[in-house]
Amino acid sequence: MKRVSILGATGSIGQNTLDLIRRSPERFDVVALTGGRNIRQLAEDAIEFNADLAVTAFDDLAEDLCLALAGTGVEVAAGADAVTEAAARPAQWIMSAIVGVAGLPPSFEALKQGTTLALANKESLVTAGQLLMNTARQNHARILPVDSEHSAIYQSLVGEDVAAVDRVIITASGGAFREWPVEDLANATLEQASAHPNWDMGQRITIDSASMFNKALEVIEAREFFGFRPEQIEVLVHPESIVHAMVGFCDGGFMAHIGPHDMRHAIGYALNWPQREDLPLEQLDFAALGQLTFVHPDLQRYPALRLAREVMERRGLSGAVFNAAKERCLDHFIAGRMGFVDMARVIEDVLNDISSSPGLIDAEITLDQVLHVDHLSRQSADRLVKERIS
Ligand code: NAD
Ligand code: MG
Repeated sequence: MKRVSILGATGSIGQNTLDLIRRSPERFDVVALTGGRNIRQLAEDAIEFNADLAVTAFDDLAEDLCLALAGTGVEVAAGADAVTEAAARPAQWIMSAIVGVAGLPPSFEALKQGTTLALANKESLVTAGQLLMNTARQNHARILPVDSEHSAIYQSLVGEDVAAVDRVIITASGGAFREWPVEDLANATLEQASAHPNWDMGQRITIDSASMFNKALEVIEAREFFGFRPEQIEVLVHPESIVHAMVGFCDGGFMAHIGPHDMRHAIGYALNWPQREDLPLEQLDFAALGQLTFVHPDLQRYPALRLAREVMERRGLSGAVFNAAKERCLDHFIAGRMGFVDMARVIEDVLNDISSSPGLIDAEITLDQVLHVDHLSRQSADRLVKERIS
């Protein structure tokens, strides 16, 4: 039996991971499950999967979780440190599916125990890529990417020499505003930005698809994980969203990864690696699809992609600045305090603001430094948004 832990078990990726584990109970032994405010879900899952440990990230919910699990024999803990400690519990496979920079310390801790880390939390690589990759190397840990584009690249590279890669193409759906006149974007409402043309996801990631800030994080993630140079990474808009990534080699050949847009494919690949197992996914019908389309993204429409390139060139802690500014601007947009196109402008201003502090972006990447820069960047974003309003 494979001993597994799931960090962020109550979220979308976490629940999809448990769905796959539920189908093969004889193969998995659940060590730790962590969650946030959804105590009912966390407790239900801890009981169903007979977990050793259940942790909520929030101290104020300790009692609720204790009550929900009283008499079950499941150990209970609460707080951010307890989540990180859960990641240190010996396990052979750990899913990192917490949302936001809160996922970084547990990802880091999991790697220190030399385990296999299935990494869905893209913020870990965006904010601290070099630190994470070095920690994995030093501890003989393995990272398996779970973001679908990165899983696609990983699968396309099996048996290949990364040095023979010429370029990599990451696809994007184009989001809610793919067809909009660019000049109308200034008036885009929260409701319009929250409606994805192809599928249902959480509100934040849907808005990040419309702006392509999600894709921006992904290109940075690809640079950090695979070590590609920024100029090797391209984005193409592919509305059918079944080709997740394409890897072009020096001899002109490409390996493209095609799959249904169901996260259980990438999760299942990481869960079963190095084997492949049956997964409960819809079969693709190519004839019904008829044709596949690819177009260059318009950088006027998607300034996030230009900013991502700057971050990839700049490196250091600029990814931590970019991610924090993006998260805060998204909060402000959702709260109605800023317009859709203002998000990219403020994020660019935060990058410039923090970069102008001597030594900050180029400081050594440590966990503390990432969290410090994250904090400063959020403050900078708040200040800039306030200035714009007044
Ligand atoms: P989600 O919001 O559905 O779930 C997030 C999980 O993190 C929940 O269990 C929540 O309780 C927990 N959490 C929230 N705040 C926390 C905190 N401060 N400390 C500890 N735990 C906390 O998110 P999701 O869609 O499952 O995404 C998880 C990660 O995977 C994100 O980084 C996302 O970008 C990435 N990802 C998601 C998808 C997808 O299709 N959902 C695809 C690719 C990558
Ligand atoms: Mg993705």
